[in-house]
Amino acid sequence: DVILSVRNLTANVDGSPILKGVNLEIKAGEVHAIMGRNGSGKSTLSKVLTGHPSYEVTGGEVLYKGESLLDKEPDERALNGIFLAFQYPLEIPGVSNIDFLRVAYNARQKHLGLEEIDTFDFEDLVEEKLEVVKMNSSFLERSLNEGFSGGEKKRNEILQMALLEPTLAILDEIDSGLDIDALKIVANGVNQLAKPDNAFLLITHYQRLLNYIEPDFIHVMYDGRIVKSGTKELALELEEKGYDFLDEKILTEV
Ligand code: ADP
Ligand code: MG
Ligand code: MG
Repeated sequence: DVILSVRNLTANVDGSPILKGVNLEIKAGEVHAIMGRNGSGKSTLSKVLTGHPSYEVTGGEVLYKGESLLDKEPDERALNGIFLAFQYPLEIPGVSNIDFLRVAYNARQKHLGLEEIDTFDFEDLVEEKLEVVKMNSSFLERSLNEGFSGGEKKRNEILQMALLEPTLAILDEIDSGLDIDALKIVANGVNQLAKPDNAFLLITHYQRLLNYIEPDFIHVMYDGRIVKSGTKELALELEEKGYDFLDEKILTEV
């Protein structure tokens, strides 16, 4: 089953072309990783897929579970199971983490035609999911992400993901700024949540994350395109040679 099919996708940010023809196919049960140097367009791709309004699609198409995605509103995409964990999670003072989680969870329930979850049942469910990210329940009563450390914010993103059980989870630089213990917790969370009927798109600058999560496919993004795809060996090659070798390679191949 194909979950996501991106075909020749182009997009502008502030009138400048950033995505210059992205092709990508993700099937159920697969974990994909996109690597690439800063500024290559990785975050832009994740924002276009989730429907961020500042990004203007100029061409190509995206099918999600066989249906056209780009004409759908961001909240509809989320309700249909596309989840984006942010590179920089937002802090929302005055909104407690658990209230935020409950609202998101119940919106999904409603969309699926299911009843809202009872407050006590929700607490039980959240307690169970806290284990996945080894978070203390004291985080639930705090304002969303306010004063959370970098690692806590990222773990909180994984907690949201664990609750919402997305079909397609896009994790943008979930590893950046994490110490090794937090990195292992985050990676372990992803590994636990990966199932035959869902898919993950991991975006990372560093090979390090891939020591803990083994993707089925690795893609290299370069100047708004995926220029190379492969398996684990490709990440090791990038680690060894750095991203600069791509410049020569691309210049000689084009
Ligand atoms: P990556 O995630 O691979 O580091 P981005 O997708 O964030 O790359 O950025 C790709 C390019 O788009 C960069 O040159 C960046 O400066 C530009 N860009 C991204 N977002 C914006 C924005 N909101 N306004 C202007 N330029 C942007
Ligand atoms: Mg970046
Ligand atoms: Mg980025």
